[in-house]
Amino acid sequence: MAGARAAILDAVKSALSIEEIEVLPPGPGEVQVKYVASGVCHSDLHAITGDMLHPLPVILGHEGGGIVEAVGSGVTTCQVGDHVLTSYIPSCGTCSYCTIGRPNLCALRDRPRHLMLDGTSRFRRRDGSFVNHFLQVSSFATRAVLLQEGVIPIRKDAPLDVVCLVSCGVTAGMGAVLNRAKVKPGSTVVVFGCGGVGLNVIQAAELAGAGRVIAVDRLPYKLGLAEEFGATHLIDASKEDPVKRVHEITGGVGADYAFEAIGAPRVIETMLECLHRGGEAYIIGVSPHGARISIDPSLLVQERVLSGSSFGGSRQRVDLPMIVDLFMQGKVKLRELVSRRLGLDDVNRAFELLNRGEVARSVLVYT
Ligand SMILES: [Zn+2]
Ligand SMILES: [Zn+2]
Repeated sequence: MAGARAAILDAVKSALSIEEIEVLPPGPGEVQVKYVASGVCHSDLHAITGDMLHPLPVILGHEGGGIVEAVGSGVTTCQVGDHVLTSYIPSCGTCSYCTIGRPNLCALRDRPRHLMLDGTSRFRRRDGSFVNHFLQVSSFATRAVLLQEGVIPIRKDAPLDVVCLVSCGVTAGMGAVLNRAKVKPGSTVVVFGCGGVGLNVIQAAELAGAGRVIAVDRLPYKLGLAEEFGATHLIDASKEDPVKRVHEITGGVGADYAFEAIGAPRVIETMLECLHRGGEAYIIGVSPHGARISIDPSLLVQERVLSGSSFGGSRQRVDLPMIVDLFMQGKVKLRELVSRRLGLDDVNRAFELLNRGEVARSVLVYT
């Protein structure tokens, strides 16, 4: 049994408490990771606000980077000493989804995600009570046990306190463009929400050769980042009507693709109105539990497509190391996404900043 420091959520809408905990050794097929860093994502915030229902207490965090320090029996995907990213969607490699090449939809998603596959937790408080895992990752801890299906080895020369962002936001944004929409060179892309996910939609659209990348946000700070990441046109939705502006920019035609990285029903509806006939819209953001959208069916009859993107439609074991490679080659911006670097003790401050839209991403770094 190993000790760890962890940020624990005991009740919805409360601050996380930093505690010393015990981490039980990895069981069969499980991997113990010493985390080096973790990004702070909106999905973690949703669990705190109650917009996402989750068993409590829980150790949140799902954008981790770390080093393997122990493996259970039967582990074949990594070994001690490997530098790894986390995949909050595990991929078993053998279910029907994995077999047809859609490992981001893996059948393991149907199992409870707050416990290991044997139905128990590896986290113990000092009083002996257990704490739930989060998406079988729980990277707001200095150490955790994960499923081997959620551990992705990467090259050792990549800085884990930067590339940890690939474990959620970067892949969610880039993958939506490259894997789901397969954006074509010269096309017009509209992005709603220019935070830690939307900025990666923008840089992937540029990588794919999009002709126009139109960024929409309500915060000047985020629009400034959007421009830095390759947006060719900026729309401040607090002052301008995005639908009208997109049609103006495209000479009255409309956009080829739209992406939303907010999780807001009204924005999803707006996205469809920005498209020309046959255009494609993708939902990336996670809407609050119980949210519904209302759309004019004629928009879809005219062959507009509305779909979504889960972890960027990624093939985790291929795409995560590939994005890390692109970063190391200078083709993908990651350092520019890190607005703040904080310690685990500052996790509540990181959520305040996220809530106020003052950061693209905060990274918690464990020393
Ligand atoms: Zn996330
Ligand atoms: Zn599978």
